Amino acid sequence: MKKLLLFIPIILFACNQDKKKSNTTETAKAIEIKDPHSFSDPSNCVVTHLDLKLNVDFKTQILKGEATWTINKIGKIDEIIFDAKGLKIEKITLDDDIKNAFFALGDEEPFMGQPLSVDIKPTTKKIHIFYSTSKNAPALQWLNPNQTAGKKFPYLFTQSEAILARTWIPCQDSPSIRFTYNADITVPKELLALMSAENPQKKNDSGIYHFEQKHAIPSYLMALAVGDIAFKAIDNRTGVYAEPSVLGKAAYEFADMGKMVTAAEKIYGDYHWGRYDVLVLPPSFPFGGMENPMLTFATPTVIAGDRSLVSLIAHELAHSWSGNLVTNATWNDFWLNEGFTVYFERRIVEQLYGKEEVQMQEVLGYKDLKGSIDEMGETNPDTRLKVDFTNRDPDLGVSDIAYEKGFFFLKNIENAVGREKFDAFLKEYFNSHAFTSMDNDGFLAYLNDNLIKNDESLKDKINSYAWVYQPGLPKDFTLPISETFNKIDSLQKQLMASQNPKGLNKEIKSTNEKLYFIRTIPASADLKLITALDQEFGFTDSGNSEIQCVWYTLAINRNYKVAYPEMKNFLINVGRRKFLLPIYKALIETPEGKKLANEIYKEARPNYHSVAYNTLDEMLK
Ligand SMILES: [Zn+2]
Repeated sequence: MKKLLLFIPIILFACNQDKKKSNTTETAKAIEIKDPHSFSDPSNCVVTHLDLKLNVDFKTQILKGEATWTINKIGKIDEIIFDAKGLKIEKITLDDDIKNAFFALGDEEPFMGQPLSVDIKPTTKKIHIFYSTSKNAPALQWLNPNQTAGKKFPYLFTQSEAILARTWIPCQDSPSIRFTYNADITVPKELLALMSAENPQKKNDSGIYHFEQKHAIPSYLMALAVGDIAFKAIDNRTGVYAEPSVLGKAAYEFADMGKMVTAAEKIYGDYHWGRYDVLVLPPSFPFGGMENPMLTFATPTVIAGDRSLVSLIAHELAHSWSGNLVTNATWNDFWLNEGFTVYFERRIVEQLYGKEEVQMQEVLGYKDLKGSIDEMGETNPDTRLKVDFTNRDPDLGVSDIAYEKGFFFLKNIENAVGREKFDAFLKEYFNSHAFTSMDNDGFLAYLNDNLIKNDESLKDKINSYAWVYQPGLPKDFTLPISETFNKIDSLQKQLMASQNPKGLNKEIKSTNEKLYFIRTIPASADLKLITALDQEFGFTDSGNSEIQCVWYTLAINRNYKVAYPEMKNFLINVGRRKFLLPIYKALIETPEGKKLANEIYKEARPNYHSVAYNTLDEMLK
């Protein structure tokens, strides 16, 4: 029965919720898609609105309450199916009826959880699910006071992408299904609650917070954070939330947020969501950022003190269009979220910080992409943009392919048609598909109809087939170039000849330059030179997380043990998966390193989110 549910084509009715600003009509649009990562069957019955009431209990580390779903029945059916994982369902009632409705939880499947089917009547409009989460719900990270900056109060945050929303809310957990939501969240009185919605800017005396998200969003954008959190405005529509001791530094680092929103609107059209705020989380947050609507969740590792890593904010802001406004229909279409977002992030960065900055990012991005393709193998089907994660956890398939190969494909289209034409195309694409989902084939059809338009030579130049359906990189791929990095190549040669790095610190200054420099240190550089470089640049003690990550990886590969105590410290205090993976990976290359990796991991694992430790458990076993 489950397999049947998994593979029948579903029709998605995505209503446009943004009445004021979008050109799309309110007529429901039907998109035929299949989502292999949800048990729900929205071709028959789909949710449209959620009223959520939850109590946050830090003692038991459990959320308990009621999810009331408003539904839209499309077929003649007598049941609706939700996704659930580890949820304790106490009872379910329908509309105003106080009698319990019949429900059943199906067999538990690895990473998918269980289908929750509820018997409904022909007249049913609302379904009330009374439930609680389990102790180790993968979406929830409960921090004890010691794991926060202030060390006084506990903290809770959620991470729902890709398919973890079902571990804290019974829902139709597919990115193709959208709903609006209201929520009432009760928390200890000394703490503030925030969601992916309109947010309070200060604590109140009751500890009860009310939220409204008026735009329809998919379940993976459901988000909640609770902690000792304060707010500081950047301008009239942007601001920063953080623990009080971090707030000043965060506001300084993200001072350009308002300018970023304005720059973004110039390219893609209006920002649809009202406010744009960023919440800086404690260091265990597993990602760089998560694009929760109206409130990006961000890692504190981007606070470098010199605003050098703020392109992460440009990335999360860009998701307000690519991802949140037009959403990948399934996790097999993930590049539509991430490739577009990297492209857009670099366009924002170009407006604010200039072309050379972007060229450096492109070269670094290419190096990441090339590394991933080499590692996976250039004929590996997972190096296609159109991937197939059916029967696999989509979260374990996250790689540079969706991000960087997606970016280079879009850049290739820009090069083929010219920026002006491509910008007009993109603006219309986002406008006409606002608040709907898009799959891979749908995008390529739209590209064909609206940009290529039977122009055979343009079709050859764009070469969608090779980019999207074939593994590796197309044969005619042109390498990105950065003049600044070319200069570093010359410096690198001089260094190898002289073996003396004195004075290099004055020539290689920015974060990007240092990252490139470290990554291109030749294999022939011996321990003496590595030591001299560390004395010249102070890489081991750099407070810049990106630099620390590449330097510690190099230190392990070159057996430069001076860096180990700081490397260990970094692994214990930082939970960002992007940094953890390469460092642990370098460590397990040797038996001695593997032993050390396991020792550190034992101490560090309680500080990591499930998204990070699930990947690392696999790697270190
Ligand atoms: Zn992203």
